[in-house]
Amino acid sequence: MRRFLGPLIVIAVIAGIFLFVANDLLSGGFADEFDELSDRTTDDVLTVLDDDEGFSDVQVFDVLADASLEPQAEGLAAEAWQLWVRLAGEENVAQLVTQYRAGEAPQSSALAYVFQDPGIRQFTLAVNLSAADDEAQLVSTLVHEWSHVLSLEVEQFDESSLEGDVADCATLVLTQGCLTDESYLWQFYDEFWAGYSKHPDVHNDSPVLAEDFFTTHSADFVSEYAATNPLEDFAESVTVFVVANDDDPFADLGDTAALKVEFFEQYPELVDWREHVREVAAVELGLR
Ligand SMILES: [Zn+2]
Repeated sequence: MRRFLGPLIVIAVIAGIFLFVANDLLSGGFADEFDELSDRTTDDVLTVLDDDEGFSDVQVFDVLADASLEPQAEGLAAEAWQLWVRLAGEENVAQLVTQYRAGEAPQSSALAYVFQDPGIRQFTLAVNLSAADDEAQLVSTLVHEWSHVLSLEVEQFDESSLEGDVADCATLVLTQGCLTDESYLWQFYDEFWAGYSKHPDVHNDSPVLAEDFFTTHSADFVSEYAATNPLEDFAESVTVFVVANDDDPFADLGDTAALKVEFFEQYPELVDWREHVREVAAVELGLR
């Protein structure tokens, strides 16, 4: 989730649930039955999340194989979805995102969230349309959400751990399983979080803990919300890497926060994505 707090501070939370379902079940004759079950489970949980955030008039869309929506969206809901597809790429969205929810939550600080479907192979994107009329903010929010998808998709985890065996995990255990050595989140954590003697844990969503940690280590973070947990720090730092002004991308950042933004230069695919976003959203970002 991404939240808006005050004029400049944006925070975000990701929610995830995980059911262990063997591949052979999915590929066999139970596929339809499983789909119905998982849809129900997911929708129940998502409805609770919507309620928690005061999302009302929630429109629910299925994502089709060409990344279009069923039923068709209209107005701001359609514009936000088209932007998401432009930023993330039609093929990537079709492969990883199964549902889109667009609601109105004028009283909520929540801008958007992504939610992992059971099995973590796919995601739902939800957008608060009440906060979607600021184009630059919407771009950075969707970049933040896509970075969650990239860092939490199934290939980031040891395959054996996806079925619950995390006893030998030498990296970090998340709800989904054990991160691989090469995963974005483990590399990021190992570089920037492992050295703290004490820090909010990977599941922290308390703004109070985040504020405390940020106050103590303000030069380490690109935003207060980034101090919530390593996953949000990753998403917030990627967002600065992708959307920051070319002239002075590290303006106002502390030393370690600037290192975090530079950290992503080592991944050619993230550098390419950055260029892609700045090309397709140049107008929204004020780049031309
Ligand atoms: Zn987030």
